Amino acid sequence: MQDFLERLDHGVVVTPNVDHLVKLQRDHDFYLAYQAAEHIVCDSKIVQIASRFLSAPLIEKISGSDLFPAFCRHHRHDPDIRIFLLGAAPGVAREAMRRINHDSGRELVVGEYSPPMGFETDPVENRKIVSLINQSGATVLAVGLGAPKQEIWIHRYREQLPQIRIFFAIGATIDFMAGNIPRAPKWLSDCGLEWLYRLSREPGRLWKRYLVDDTHFFWLLLKQRLGLYRNPWAEAT
Ligand code: UDP
Repeated sequence: MQDFLERLDHGVVVTPNVDHLVKLQRDHDFYLAYQAAEHIVCDSKIVQIASRFLSAPLIEKISGSDLFPAFCRHHRHDPDIRIFLLGAAPGVAREAMRRINHDSGRELVVGEYSPPMGFETDPVENRKIVSLINQSGATVLAVGLGAPKQEIWIHRYREQLPQIRIFFAIGATIDFMAGNIPRAPKWLSDCGLEWLYRLSREPGRLWKRYLVDDTHFFWLLLKQRLGLYRNPWAEAT
């Protein structure tokens, strides 16, 4: 984590977990966004354990929800770092901004916007977001729209955001930093059970993701271990 924070000075950061790896098999735009990302850090204990099973061990799990607060602390006195928060429900990004700026003792977050549902297909709304970010003076953009929306949005609009040096795709981190949703205890997360905690808090929204869709991961893992896995997009790119 520390090493990465010291080296990170430009590019897109994505944080793969089991859910992302399953969605990447099915969503070509998501796959292209991942291919274009400069930094891919392992968000999940389960993915880290899987990497050992595949004899390609990843040295550390760095969850987006740990990385982004650590980034804010690391740069709290660095005037070149000015952050814009994009995502979460109305009012939540504003509260996260208030808390981060309070903890940093300065205006580290210079702007925020929680877009309305369905905004991603509305060109007027997207132009408005690009212009808000460009006018804010931000050099870092943290996008919390859930996967794959956030990664695809960054991939689609990064060229229109010339002042942004670092892009984070951070899922529910804005909610966590606003105190809107509690984060799982560290010991649960270190055991690979953060998903179970999140499922217990939001079963209606998350049961299908964790209990149906994501179980496909274990099949993919077995196939890769046996040398039978094929990248579904290898010929499409
Ligand atoms: N979200 C949003 N706009 C949308 C869809 C989602 O702002 O159109 C936000 C939602 O409010 C939540 C985050 O995106 O803050 C989604 O978090 P999720 O749990 O899907 O992300 P994860 O951390 O699991 O990647």
